[in-house]
Amino acid sequence: MSKSINDLVDQLRQESNLPDAALLELLAAPGDCQYLHDSANSVRQEIYGSAVYLRGLIEFTNYCHNDCYYCGLRRSNRQAQRYRLSSEDILACCATGHRLGYRTFVLQGGEDGYFSDERLVPLVAKIKELYPECAVTLSVGERSKDSYRKLREAGADRYLLRHETANRSHYEKLHPQEMSWENRRRCLFELKELGYQVGAGLMVGSPFQEDRHLLEDLRFMQELKPDMIGIGPYLRQADTPFAGYPNGSMSKTLRLLSIVRLMFPYILLPATTALGTLNPRGRELGLRAGANVLMPNLSPLSVRRYYNIYDNKICTGEEAAECLTCLSARIKHAGFTVSKGRGDVKRTH
Ligand code: SAH
Repeated sequence: MSKSINDLVDQLRQESNLPDAALLELLAAPGDCQYLHDSANSVRQEIYGSAVYLRGLIEFTNYCHNDCYYCGLRRSNRQAQRYRLSSEDILACCATGHRLGYRTFVLQGGEDGYFSDERLVPLVAKIKELYPECAVTLSVGERSKDSYRKLREAGADRYLLRHETANRSHYEKLHPQEMSWENRRRCLFELKELGYQVGAGLMVGSPFQEDRHLLEDLRFMQELKPDMIGIGPYLRQADTPFAGYPNGSMSKTLRLLSIVRLMFPYILLPATTALGTLNPRGRELGLRAGANVLMPNLSPLSVRRYYNIYDNKICTGEEAAECLTCLSARIKHAGFTVSKGRGDVKRTH
């Protein structure tokens, strides 16, 4: 990397910010940007040490009434074999997870009308009653403020809702007309207002994405001040309208992870399953580039392979315990330690 790029990295580290032109230069920098990754790694080390927080992920339904062009769960995908777990199944996943030591459960799914407030609120309340020391994270898409409030009152602590792209016209290229950037944004700000720890985020290399969009994403997140940022590469799914578009790039995803760590030093930043799918060592490289969260799969083995948001998803053939053993070994091998505590954000921005 040239000296001037290294200077930009130093400035970003010191000020947690850079002018637009400098950020664009960093985003476009060629090569593997080792100095950028090392700087992000050391900022993560200063704040979170070498602890990697684990979250048990329960993919509880793949029914979805949305039709996002990139996602294999979209309602128009007739190839998808649909499933939904019962409340009993979900509680059994939590029991397994709790026994394995997890203290955060992430309930993620498509936007499935079956999981109305009448069903989801008592489920969240039950999980919190059984495991009061655990955090419950929801990732169930766009809902009304009233619904978010009820779920929060039932005990939900965190909510993951990637903004996907902060540029309106790019948003419209990724989603059908019935979805809007305004509504996505509304949801995120309402979730914050209701006291959730909020996760935003995006796919790197989604069709039509340009660096100026990533810059807007960074500026939007500075405005939102999320507690978590989920970043993974876009990966093709053969049964979507975007099947012909290439996967996002590994180096670009790692670069964005590091920039995010330097801009948001306290952020909870997962090394995503998508990163591990793109490259067998992707998650380890993500940790070395500044990430500090991993989300092992707790879903029952029988349904794993049906949560096909993209092709070739890893970890679909292992029981929860094996998944944990494998990931723990990877974490230690990469020089980090496993933390199964709640792993709350160290400071709200
Ligand atoms: N319905 C929930 C969960 C969606 S799946 C919600 O709307 O939040 C979680 C994330 O997977 C999405 O936010 C999206 O960013 C990501 N995703 C979907 N399709 C993908 C693809 N083809 N490649 C990579 N990531 C994808």
